[in-house]
Amino acid sequence: MGKIYAIVSGKGGTGKTTTTINLGAALTEFKHDVIIVDANLTTPNLSLYLGAPVVPISLAHVLQRKARIEDAIYEHHSGMKVVPSSLSLRDLKKINYGLLADSLKSLRKLSNHVLLDSASGLGDEALAPISASDEIILVVNPNILSVTDALKTIKIAQDMHKKVKGVIITRICYENHEMSIKSIQEMLEVPILGVIPEDRSVHRALAKRSSVIHSYPRSKASRAYVDIAAKFIGRKRKKSFYEKFLRNLGIRI
Ligand code: ADP
Ligand code: MG
Repeated sequence: MGKIYAIVSGKGGTGKTTTTINLGAALTEFKHDVIIVDANLTTPNLSLYLGAPVVPISLAHVLQRKARIEDAIYEHHSGMKVVPSSLSLRDLKKINYGLLADSLKSLRKLSNHVLLDSASGLGDEALAPISASDEIILVVNPNILSVTDALKTIKIAQDMHKKVKGVIITRICYENHEMSIKSIQEMLEVPILGVIPEDRSVHRALAKRSSVIHSYPRSKASRAYVDIAAKFIGRKRKKSFYEKFLRNLGIRI
């Protein structure tokens, strides 16, 4: 049975959609069965980022009880399985977020990992994927707003009795950050799953409607996502640059 992970943040624009796509792509490269789901129905960026054309059946139709989730799974040209959302505003009417958890249940039988790209904020749309998940993965940037919003999300998830798998810190560059990795770990008190550098390849890959894993496999961001995926499934791999760097600071990830 596969597990369902909600990729969440609280604050918008931290890199949830990018992380869902690239973690999904990296796990697929390791020959694991993965389904990524665009559960951010009002701003379906995952579907846009992957260039999903207007699909006949989307998650929106499933949440209107018009279709089964099995019929909303499509294969991206990279080989990754995707449940897109609808780009049409009309399809957003009569969506019942309460149906998400039940609708996704059968995906556990079809794949090892189901990754839910979530909406930002703490409204119904953001909370539904948490409620539908087995565990949550936080995506934060090294700044105070992002980390305090993540802290609220952790508390809400814990109140919903969801396990917090850990946090991925994205868009790290060499300049001084508002918050160090160490202070983020101390504040959130959850494992750090990995660190993704700021990398222009992420934008270049988007222009190709693809992941960095497929378009720029040697880029820093791609290698960092592969590291996280390897750890996720317990594969041995060489220690990354960031891992060595953090170990020197006394932080184990
Ligand atoms: P969210 O889903 O949390 O709103 P996105 O994944 O859409 O965030 O990312 C927000 C913006 O940041 C996008 O323009 C994306 O291309 C960019 N971005 C995300 N991760 C990186 C990265 N590692 N390096 C550079 N740009 C990034
Ligand atoms: Mg997003």
